[in-house]
Amino acid sequence: MPITVQTLSDAVARSHARIERLEDQLNAADALLGDGDTGSMLARVIEKMAATDLSATSDIGAAFNALARAIMSATGSSLGTLLATGLLALAKATKGRSELPWIELSGLIGQAIEAMRIRGGASLGDKTILDALQSVAQSLAGITNASAAADVANAAASGARAALEHFKPLPCKIGRARLFPEKSTGAHDPGMLALALLLERSDLPESSAACLLKTVP
Ligand SMILES: [Mg+2]
Repeated sequence: MPITVQTLSDAVARSHARIERLEDQLNAADALLGDGDTGSMLARVIEKMAATDLSATSDIGAAFNALARAIMSATGSSLGTLLATGLLALAKATKGRSELPWIELSGLIGQAIEAMRIRGGASLGDKTILDALQSVAQSLAGITNASAAADVANAAASGARAALEHFKPLPCKIGRARLFPEKSTGAHDPGMLALALLLERSDLPESSAACLLKTVP
C-alpha cells in the first residue's frame, strides 16, 4: 500500500490519541531548558491537525498544506513554525500526487529538513528535532516498496529513538538552551523527545514508552 491522504489522516489520529498522555512529560522536559510549554503547544497543534478534514482531497500535497495551516493557526512558537515549514516543503514536493511509494519517504523527509534548517537556522548536530528527523530519514532509507507498514513504523521509531539517546549526553548548541550547556547536557531535547514518543510503536508493551519517559531527568 502506498502513502495516500488516508495515511496522513491515520498518522494524525494516532498522534492525537497519544499526545494527551505525553503533554506533562514534554512540558517537564521543556521546563529544564525553556518555558515548559512544548507539551501543551503540541497538544494544541495536534488537536487542530486532527480537526482538519482531509477527506475532500486525494492530493497529498493539498493535505500537507492544510495540516501546515492548522499548525500555524494554533501556534507561533519556534518548534511549531518549524514543523509547519517542514509540512509546507512536503506539500510543495508532493503537490498533485495521490499516491507515494514508501521508498520516497526518506528523501521527502530530507527535503523537509532542508527547509526547516533554512527557516530555523539550526544545523545538524545542534541537538534539535532536525537531528531526530535526520536519523528517521536514515532509518527509512532501508525501506523498500515491499516493506510492510510495520517495518516502516519500526524503522521510523528506531531512528527517532537512536537520535534521542545519541544526543542526550551532548549539549544543545542553538536557541536559549545553548546559553546553559550544563542544563542541556544529559537532558533530552523536548522536540526530539516528542518525535520519539509519538513514533514509539503503540503495539509494544506499555513499559517501552514508560521506560523512555523515565529517561526524562
Ligand atoms: Mg517552550
